[in-house]
Amino acid sequence: MESNYFKIYPDKDGFFKEYGGAFVPPVLMDEMKKIYESYLTISKSHNFISELRNIRKHYQGRPTPVYYCNRLSEKYGGRIYLKREDLNHSGAHKLNHCMGEALLAKYMGKKKLIAETGAGQHGVALATAAAYFGLECEIHMGAVDVAKEHPNVQRMKILGAKVVSVTHGLQTLKEAVDSAFEAYLSDPINSIYCIGSVVGPHPFPLMVRDFQRIVGIEAREQFLEMTGELPDNVVACVGGGSNSIGIFTAFLNDDCQIYGVEPGGRGENIGDHAASMRYGVKGMIHGFKCYNLQNEKGEPLPVYSVASGLDYPGVGPEHCMLHDMKRVNYVTANDKECIDAFFELSRMEGIIPALESAHAVAYALKLAKENPHTSILVNLSGRGDKDVDFVLEKYGLPEDR
Ligand SMILES: *Cc1c(COP(=O)(O)O)cnc(C)c1O
Repeated sequence: MESNYFKIYPDKDGFFKEYGGAFVPPVLMDEMKKIYESYLTISKSHNFISELRNIRKHYQGRPTPVYYCNRLSEKYGGRIYLKREDLNHSGAHKLNHCMGEALLAKYMGKKKLIAETGAGQHGVALATAAAYFGLECEIHMGAVDVAKEHPNVQRMKILGAKVVSVTHGLQTLKEAVDSAFEAYLSDPINSIYCIGSVVGPHPFPLMVRDFQRIVGIEAREQFLEMTGELPDNVVACVGGGSNSIGIFTAFLNDDCQIYGVEPGGRGENIGDHAASMRYGVKGMIHGFKCYNLQNEKGEPLPVYSVASGLDYPGVGPEHCMLHDMKRVNYVTANDKECIDAFFELSRMEGIIPALESAHAVAYALKLAKENPHTSILVNLSGRGDKDVDFVLEKYGLPEDR
């Protein structure tokens, strides 16, 4: 990879080769430009950098550890390590970019953070950041999701966020996106739209990537210190692609294999998976160009995964570029492999992973079995507390099946 990688990707219009960009209405284009310019200035200022550092250390609990899985490695072969993003305050990597976005909002003089959320994970992380900075927070959520994700709705409310239940159309994520954009457009001076992954129009894939890079920077240093070498393999799950890009970017110029694991779901038919890279086509979605799952009319197709944080019909533009450059291997793990890995990590190491992260663990176990001499660094993006009721209800304990 080019040594000035971060200088040249994305270009000034937000393109990673042919992917990315900002394809939005003119009013929004002006706002995106303002955000980009502010970000370029603010992110280089001493005050911003030191405040973000301080937050990471004293509020989020960074650096998160790298942990060697003793029993798991013994059983499967290989040497398996976890970057423990599940130990972030609020339980996942999402706070890395939400704190960054909210800090930027504060420096820009914004009063309110607006976002949509599907399963509620992004909503909870953003509500956390809003509470920290004393900003208003408005989360738009489809009414179907509000009912389904009750605990997260309650968490957002406890944190002081306003949850807007969207009752038109199919009442899910797509309608929530439209509703949140509408709210944003009604007052773009005082509010800012906070996107929850490395997706959406420029500059969001760039900003969210930058805020997540800390994961890889820490992990590379920690792994080197622990083992005296670099990992042979780096593995992370890919929904929109934020936790994965965060760890991948530190290893692009190293001699290691990188794997992005997409959700294979319950089959290969439309609506049974959310593997945008594997089954998708190049096209436009939510204001940017990427591989995505769409019909002939260019409308997003229904997607599914047992991990609700992974069921997005597109994928970040930087991933699309890294795919075409053949620097990152995009693979899949299905529901069954995910659930097996969920119990395996819980019982072998005492760590209950988020179902999203369990996809990465599942693929790591496969790699370990194939090559007993290899070392594998997995980004454990989040903890599984949010998933325990669902898993027990739907699948039960392994011994009871
Ligand atoms: C939201 C989420 C993901 C998926 O998002 P990315 O942007 O692909 O990282 C993965 N893991 C956890 C724990 C999540 O909450």
